[in-house]
Amino acid sequence: MTSNEWAATPPSLSYELYPPATPKAAEAVLRTIDELSATNPDYVSVTFSGTPERRRASIDLIEHLVRNTRLRPLAHLTCVGETRESLELLVRQFLGLGVRGLLALRGDLPQDPDVARGDLPFAHFLVELIRDIEGRHTATLAGGRLAVGVAAYPNRHPESPSFLHDIEVLVSKQRAGADFAITQVYFDPTHYVRLVTAASAAGVTMPIIPGVMPMANVGRLERLAVMTGVRPDKALLHRLETASDGAERRRIGVQAAAVLAQAAFDGGAPGLHLYTFNDHRASVEVIEQLDLPAIRTLADVVPA
Ligand code: FAD
Repeated sequence: MTSNEWAATPPSLSYELYPPATPKAAEAVLRTIDELSATNPDYVSVTFSGTPERRRASIDLIEHLVRNTRLRPLAHLTCVGETRESLELLVRQFLGLGVRGLLALRGDLPQDPDVARGDLPFAHFLVELIRDIEGRHTATLAGGRLAVGVAAYPNRHPESPSFLHDIEVLVSKQRAGADFAITQVYFDPTHYVRLVTAASAAGVTMPIIPGVMPMANVGRLERLAVMTGVRPDKALLHRLETASDGAERRRIGVQAAAVLAQAAFDGGAPGLHLYTFNDHRASVEVIEQLDLPAIRTLADVVPA
């Protein structure tokens, strides 16, 4: 299994899970995992954040995936606030659990300027560090290679001076050793195409997987806009605000996500990453609405 099989055999399918914060949420995430397993994803990613409790919850969820399911986890890892040593410990902990895929991220900067930002200012340094650690643990990996993914931005990252600066950053992540990228949420199908076109012109050859979020919750859309700087589509917001009930809102959110995903596939996207918010129903409904490119069978690749 090579690292690019995580993203390059079209179309790949992945889901993003959130470590549960309460026992009730933990039950829900286990149900979500069962339901999503049935769609045979290539991997499921698990988000990561700084506080010790959230971090423990991420590691527990990954351990559950490795021990009790057939799903491959992609562990998110953020470098903000970390030392090289603490990151090395985390990477080694993930390797020890059997994780073979990491999403290398910087994480959002702390609001408080007095809080330490850590040894690595940008995500591409984390990619380099992971590759360096990998080189020193070849025995653990038995000759295999880690799959390392990074974030990409169809709309300008809030701290970035321009969209083209983000493209240069993506080039530097690829040079540092990234195998694939997953995009931030976006609401206009042309923004994904614009990103892929600009990245390709700048020399990015790694697959860029569209990250799509079935969005049925107005409050969450507004929070997302604050966190990511991505303004929600006004028409979608209006339809959600005027929907009669939760079921209607979910139908609208699923349909909008399916339109984005289908447009990305029609434009040649190498896969689909669904931000689940641990709601399996919406994600499965998106998949059901898609006219996916045919999965290759042995007959397609072995001459008669
Ligand atoms: P970087 O690539 O380091 O970029 C951060 C900023 O620095 C950008 O503005 C960039 O333009 C700029 N920059 C980068 N390199 C340079 C350079 N050499 N010189 C000058 N400027 C530079 N956050 C979490 O906390 N936990 C998660 O689990 C998580 N999962 C995510 C999953 C996906 C798919 C995505 C898209 C985002 C995720 N995030 C997560 C959010 C992410 O951490 C934030 O968007 C963060 O602000 C930037 O992370 P990055 O890895 O893109 O950082």
